[in-house]
Amino acid sequence: MTDISTSSDLTLRVGLLCAPAITIEFHGGYTDDYGRSIDGTVTFDRRDAGRRFRCTTAESYATVRDVVIGIGFHWEQRIDLSYPGDFELIAEGDGNLRLINTVSIEEYLCSVISSEMSADASPALLEAHAVISRSWVIAQILAHKHPGSCRCNPNRPESAAEKSEIIRWWDRQDHDTFDVCADDHCQRYQGLSQAHNPRVVEAIAATRGLVLTDSKGTLVDARFSKCCGGATELFGTCWSEQEHHECLQALADSPHPERLPDLRGEAEAARWIESRPDAFCSNPSAATLRQVLKGYDQQTTDFYRWTVTWDAEKLSENIRLRLPEARIGRIRSLTAVKRGTSGRIERLRLTGSDGEVVIGKELLIRKVLSESHLYSSAFTVRYDGFDADGYPSRIILHGAGWGHGVGLCQIGAAVMGEQGYSSAQILAHYFPGAKLTSATEIIKSV
Ligand SMILES: [Zn+2]
Ligand SMILES: [Zn+2]
Repeated sequence: MTDISTSSDLTLRVGLLCAPAITIEFHGGYTDDYGRSIDGTVTFDRRDAGRRFRCTTAESYATVRDVVIGIGFHWEQRIDLSYPGDFELIAEGDGNLRLINTVSIEEYLCSVISSEMSADASPALLEAHAVISRSWVIAQILAHKHPGSCRCNPNRPESAAEKSEIIRWWDRQDHDTFDVCADDHCQRYQGLSQAHNPRVVEAIAATRGLVLTDSKGTLVDARFSKCCGGATELFGTCWSEQEHHECLQALADSPHPERLPDLRGEAEAARWIESRPDAFCSNPSAATLRQVLKGYDQQTTDFYRWTVTWDAEKLSENIRLRLPEARIGRIRSLTAVKRGTSGRIERLRLTGSDGEVVIGKELLIRKVLSESHLYSSAFTVRYDGFDADGYPSRIILHGAGWGHGVGLCQIGAAVMGEQGYSSAQILAHYFPGAKLTSATEIIKSV
């Protein structure tokens, strides 16, 4: 790819920690708003809200004490982390102070992609990922500059849903006072503390400033998930149906993307999900998986096709705990009401001893049918061991893929990179019709 712009002046405001007091150790030269030099270790409190600190050299950085990482996960901990760029303190609710780091987008991408990707990932995969991650970051900046264009719609019904329907989805939520947070909610950003993978640095440089746009020049909402299961999904199956995304299409994840059966029908979906069609993501080697899966994710390798067996009594209890408003009692059956182009179920009817309810969209279905998250909502349902009243004792889900399946399939893209496809070919496969455009052009045009 050629460098068609320099985006070194594009910066991102990252929300770091929020605490009553924040301790920062400044290194290599910083000045405050009055041009006074600031150095060494300083502890700030609420009275310092509004203060800003600018770096004066390319080597300047600051070490922030006691940053909480992995918020809400079992690995939550406090560590000291170092960041490049400028800093700002703002007042937050509850008497807290928020530290904001203003950093160049390219520097930010080096840090976050280095922590996501293995050092032996192919250059094509890393370059494709750099472009979609940059597109995502720019979308966050634009959403923040133009709050009216924010696409958040958490927990809001798509339409006037009937009483017997519980339809929810969760899309990216906007932050009020900065573009992205530094934790897993957005993308984990540990600044200079994350060793920069040299191959990631090269991939960022090779795609410097490039994002994906559609035929109208609009930034592509470059979504990605772990494994599509052989077919990609449409945006509206997972999130708002009101939005049209011309570069997010239904396609087979293979060299012949047009050869996709219509998986919206039950019979075709069952044939697809219960077989093992050839796809880029159908048979990755352990070495390919290591490129895109963290250590703990590599323990599970059966996500292209998977089976989950529920004891029906336990499933009834799980539904009661995870969706108390459903009130269906003892589960009798699960029926797909509407499927998307990858076979993912968008609306699922739960029928039980006390009534029935239709739930959606795919993420709610995955939450309700698992103790954490089901791999995907592309599954068929089989029953086993009926009692005298006709209730099954076991419910077996045969499924396909991991994640929502919209946009780039990370496993498929890793395999394409191994097979010699270029980053441009990988992006053209998953985002048909998308063009590489300079991010600075996009920002100027809005
Ligand atoms: Zn966030
Ligand atoms: Zn795939």
